Parts: sequence; structure tokens; C-alpha cells
Amino acid sequence: IIRACKEMGIKTVAIFSEADEDCLHTTMADESVCVGPANAASSYLNIANILSAAEVYGCDAIHPGYGFLSESERFASLCKECNITFIGPSLEMIQKMGNKDEARKSVKEAGVVVVPGSAGIVETYEIALKEAIRLGFPVLIKAAAGGGGKGMRIIYQEKEMKEAFELARSEALSAFGSPDVYIEKYITPVRHIEIQVLGDKKGNIVCFPERDCSLQRRNQKLIEETPSPFIWQRLRKKLMNAAYKAAHSCRYESAGTVEFIVNEKGDFYFLEMNTRIQVEHPVTEILTGVDIVKEQIKVAASQELDIETSDFYEPEGCAMEFRINAEDYKKDFMPSPGEIKFCFFPGGPGVRVDTHIYSGYTVPRNYDSLLAKIIVYEKDRDGLLKRARRVLEEIRIEGVPTTKDFYLKILDYHELAQGKITTDSITRIFEWLEEKKL
Ligand code: ADP
Repeated sequence: IIRACKEMGIKTVAIFSEADEDCLHTTMADESVCVGPANAASSYLNIANILSAAEVYGCDAIHPGYGFLSESERFASLCKECNITFIGPSLEMIQKMGNKDEARKSVKEAGVVVVPGSAGIVETYEIALKEAIRLGFPVLIKAAAGGGGKGMRIIYQEKEMKEAFELARSEALSAFGSPDVYIEKYITPVRHIEIQVLGDKKGNIVCFPERDCSLQRRNQKLIEETPSPFIWQRLRKKLMNAAYKAAHSCRYESAGTVEFIVNEKGDFYFLEMNTRIQVEHPVTEILTGVDIVKEQIKVAASQELDIETSDFYEPEGCAMEFRINAEDYKKDFMPSPGEIKFCFFPGGPGVRVDTHIYSGYTVPRNYDSLLAKIIVYEKDRDGLLKRARRVLEEIRIEGVPTTKDFYLKILDYHELAQGKITTDSITRIFEWLEEKKL
């Protein structure tokens, strides 16, 4: 965000918590201000402190990034009250798409196929069971306000339902502030395919080529790729068209992502829409040459989009993003914060590195363990995998274990090499690693 602003001649103020005083963004921005202690509720989620800082520094817009308040209706509405532009969709759009169950209804009305599921929120165990029997096991119980791969439970048999339903509701209440859950058919095997969209205030909506985010662990993405090695051009157009309808159903503005699951035959179902920029947006940027953050800023300033969906029907080349986390994959991906004694990031053709760390930086234990995003681009997929290996091998991060070593080990796994990853591949990958004693 700071990079985009610099190139646009816009001054920036970075906010940070006491735990992030030494984080790189604080020195990259023109100014920086502490908004509270390490505990996120007192700093990064503290709307009053953030808006006061914005006022003191005379900010006219806030980019909320992709965590914390980026999908908060309250934050978007309070920004508006304070006459500060929230760089994102309007309050009404967040309201409509933020609740997964509402979003399902809205896009269904617009003619997009959603994952078969309950007609709305399921209030009682009896109805939950009836719905599950109608859909056929296995089913998923999902929190309507859930996100980040959390707030869902797979139920394989009738007898698991009662306990799981009550647990899902109470977990949803404590994690997301609402006990509302709904039920979806659990479809397997599937790919997670998503379409980046951008909308402006004139009603123009542009759809980008799909991202394949099927390599996941516990419903959280590890590697993202674009275009998907599985999607053919006609299917791409259909997915873009469905994403257009979903975004158009709420006259969507700003950057957003429409997520689908796609089965082996190419049938696809709407999962949800994220009303913010996503972690994996750089793969789309490196593939298409469009700076999505700049576009978001331009659209927020009422400029019209000057790109079109048809520019992206036949993308040239391919890209992958590797999320380098401070986690020990040999210990069940345990988060491993600590001091980075030394680090060196790769360069050369077709590489982009987005990171906030440097040699001597201490990774705080308070937040997400993402350290860096390594994005690689090449003309063809074979070349891309070779480049990915070269680039991952160049990275040096000393002091904390990272997921880099995990990626280097799995690059040769046949499903990844052949572009056949589905959301359940991770189980087979672990078995393969075990077998090979890697
Ligand atoms: P979140 O908002 O928490 O990311 P999503 O609804 O986007 O939740 O789902 C996250 C992941 O969970 C998907 O990418 C997919 O792997 C899996 N998933 C979600 N719903 C289904 C489903 N109905 N059938 C199979 N897998 C699903």
C-alpha cells in the first residue's frame, strides 16, 4: 500500500502497535503512529484510536489492508461519519457480502449456482439434522460470520450431528460474535478457484483470470497459482461471468474476490465473497501487470476503471505465490516467533518479494506468522516450477524455522508438478513425506 501511494505521489501514515514498533512499514511510510499495546483489541482493532490518529495527522483516506478491520461494517461506517474515505466497498456492500448466508441468497438470486445447502440460518438441531439428511452426508456446518478457514466443521454421520451443532454454534458466538450457522453439502474432491474483481462508482466491474488456491492446510491457503492449470478457456469465461454476476448483485465497488469450489467435471459453486484485498493478490498483479492497490485507490477517488475483463481471457505466462510463515512444519506447523538473526531474499528475473522483516528483526508472538510472500512468474509452468525452486533455495532466514523448507520438499510431489492439486491433497502430501522420510 505504501509502495502504491509513493508511486502515486500520496503521503502515508503507518499505524503500529507497541509490538510492531520495529516493523518495516513504520520506516517506509512518511509518518508513523502508535495506536496502542500489543493486544490487537487495544490497537489494530481500536477504532477510536485509529480514527483519532487519522484526524491528528490530517488523513483523508484509510486503506484497511487485509486483516483486522478490513471487513468491518462499523469501521467503514465510522470512517464515513468522520469524513475519511474508507478504501474499500461501501457499508451496504460489506453488509450484504460479509454475512456468508446473506451473500449466498444474493448471488443465487443473480443466477449464480451456490454450494447446495440449507435455505438460510439453521436455528435448531432438529432442522440441522433434517437438512443434512436431505443433502446427504458428509455436510459442513459453517458460521455465517466465519472467515480465515475458521468456523466450519465436517459431519460424516447422523450421530455426530447433535454435539457438533451445539459446539459449532457456541464456537461461532465466541469467535465471531454471532451463533448463526448454516449447512452446506461437503463436496470432495474439489479445487478452490477464485476470481479477483474490481468495481468502480460508475458500475463498471472487471474480472481477472482465476487464482487456484487448492493447496491448503486446515482450510488455510499455502500456495496460490494463476492461471489454474486445471481451468480451460471456456470454463474461465464462465467463472468470470459468474463472478461478474455475484459482484454486480450488490453493485460492487473496489477490490473483492469471489470464491468458488470446482469439481473434477468443471461444475462450480459459489462459496463466498471477500470484500477486501487478499493476501494472494500479487499473483494476479504479476500476471496481468495491473497494480490492484493503485486501482483501489483510484476507484475510491471516483476515477473510472480503464481495463476490461476481455483483456484477461487469455493470460500470458503463469505465477505462483508461496506464503513463508514462521512455523515449524515438522511440529505440526507450530508458530515459531523469535529473532531473525539474518535474512536474505531472492532476486533475478520473474521474482517479487513482499515482506516486513529484515536481519535483526524480532517476529512478535502476537499476530499471524506470515513473514514474506514470494511471488514467481514465468512464461510456462515447467519453467515456473524450476524458477520457484531456484528462488526458494536463494532465501535465507536464520533464527526461526519457516515453511520455505516444506515447499522445497514438496515441489516434486507429482500432484503439484502436474497441476493436479485439490483441497484434500495435503493429506497425501504428508503421507508421501512420511514415506520418503523427508
Ligand atoms: P473462509 O471464509 O473461512 O475462508 P470458505 O467458505 O472460503 O471459508 O472455505 C474455505 C475452504 O474450505 C475452501 O477453500 C475449501 O477448501 C473448504 N470448503 C468450504 N466449503 C466447502 C464445501 N462445501 N465443500 C468442500 N470444501 C469446502
